[in-house]
Amino acid sequence: MQKEVRACAWCLLYLFSSPLRGAAPGTGIKVDQVGYLPDAPKIAFVVQPAKIFAVRRTRDASIAFQGTVQPPIFDPDSGEHVGALDFTKLHETGRFYIDVPGIGRSWNFSVKPDVFRRVYYLAMRSYYGQRCGTEVDLGSEFPGYRHAACHLDGAYHASSGKEGPRTSTHGWHDAGDYGRYVVNSGISTGLLLWTWELYGDRLKNISLHLPESGNGTPDILNEIRWNLDWMLTMQDKDGGVWHKQTSTHFCPFIMPEDDKLVSYVIGTGAAPFKSSCATADFAAVMAIAGRVYKPFDAAYASRCLRAAESAWKWLDRNPDVLFRNPAGVSTGDYGDDHCGDERLWAAAELFRTTGEDIYSRYFLAKYREYSDRLGPAGPPSWSMVAPLALWTYVLGNGSDAAAVQAIRAQSLHASDDIVERAARDGYRISLTRHDYIWGSNGEAATYGVQLLIANRMRANPRYVEAAMDNLHYLLGRNTFSLSWVTQVGEHAVLHPHHRPSAADGLELPWPGLLAGGPNPGRQDGEMKKLLAADVLPAKAYVDVTGAYACNEVAINWNAPLVLLFAALVE
Ligand SMILES: [Zn+2]
Repeated sequence: MQKEVRACAWCLLYLFSSPLRGAAPGTGIKVDQVGYLPDAPKIAFVVQPAKIFAVRRTRDASIAFQGTVQPPIFDPDSGEHVGALDFTKLHETGRFYIDVPGIGRSWNFSVKPDVFRRVYYLAMRSYYGQRCGTEVDLGSEFPGYRHAACHLDGAYHASSGKEGPRTSTHGWHDAGDYGRYVVNSGISTGLLLWTWELYGDRLKNISLHLPESGNGTPDILNEIRWNLDWMLTMQDKDGGVWHKQTSTHFCPFIMPEDDKLVSYVIGTGAAPFKSSCATADFAAVMAIAGRVYKPFDAAYASRCLRAAESAWKWLDRNPDVLFRNPAGVSTGDYGDDHCGDERLWAAAELFRTTGEDIYSRYFLAKYREYSDRLGPAGPPSWSMVAPLALWTYVLGNGSDAAAVQAIRAQSLHASDDIVERAARDGYRISLTRHDYIWGSNGEAATYGVQLLIANRMRANPRYVEAAMDNLHYLLGRNTFSLSWVTQVGEHAVLHPHHRPSAADGLELPWPGLLAGGPNPGRQDGEMKKLLAADVLPAKAYVDVTGAYACNEVAINWNAPLVLLFAALVE
């Protein structure tokens, strides 16, 4: 025993005196493993007592910056005392790590103007990996990451009001499973189309190495179109839109082409069979597509707009048809008790695209009912899209000056509050204690979107910095010192709940996917087994494939991440 203690003390002495060059990085220093823009704030965190730190150049361990650790702030969500290491004044570009005496060294990261370009590429290209109905191959960059054409056998489920076989084609696998859901496609595809509208100039020349690359349309729009084309197949002749296309139950953890369960179009089980929330989300997204694709494929754009208009008319006749899984169906539900916010979004996007009075009148009659949704807590989600409706009205220069002024003022006020809250937070993130839900990482990214939209309404560097702080959190500046984006950073999530990643026999998961994140609800067996019931919210995470309540991936969490990266691409 005595001998072991002495050995350990010697070991510590050695560690403290070593120059750290070549030492293995650890989780003691929480840093964005992708990095920082040269002129932006640069902060890392430690949770153990420390006084000084150095930023060293990776190539030769020489010191590029030295500073003192700021007095720690108690962070109740993690139970940690978090000290900030501010190296904002380091403007040198290159590859660095941080060295803190007594703690160790951090993972390597970059400081450079185009630091987020590669991760934009990976996060947006991850949708190509989710393509259904076709073969997918990530190419020589990611050898072996491929799957054969999948889910080609489609049929109408009895709940759809129709019967018989039906072509199954296009769309993105929703998440860790192989289902396709119109409601979740709504906010995901909508945010990606907005990404183009907000930052298209920076994105138009970035190739995603798709089969369509070089066809004259920017690749982000080529990829989005793959899902729009599936959504278009989900519209019935009467204008209504079926809720989802999935098997009746989830398949095992196999590759998509090995899943031979029939891909059913699933409806509500009674006339009119289509659901109002799905139809309204569809109308909103197709209305955006109706303006976005116009310069590249005018015929396609007008087809999308006509589909949106016909969906809108169906909603007039069927405003409140809710969806619940019919008997014998156990795939994702995306059930929602209220489709008014989805319809408001449809009205706002249709008005922004067409300028027609009918949509403006609807929006102006209803928007006040949702103004309390523009608060500093609880960003938009698949079940609450009212903020998207309100924001698009302002971004599209809505015709009613009083409405524009009211929405604008409320959006700015909410973002001011978020900025102040984040400044007091140990990890400087926007999340409140109540935001640690299933998909909390998507919440963090969506707060970033909220702040960037406010920045569009009135430019404020503090909004952009607070948005970036959420990104830094997702890329490793968190209690686990873990990048939650697959294959991004030196210490990234390894075992997402994602069927291809688990079934392909490759060591690393498919790249560019955002894991769900901490969730004290622990709704799966793995989390219950591995974490105590009273686990602190920010600590409620395990990197285990079976832990779907904290480690699944989903198209609606990647979409706000793509928007954040796009905002920072130079
Ligand atoms: Zn498929």
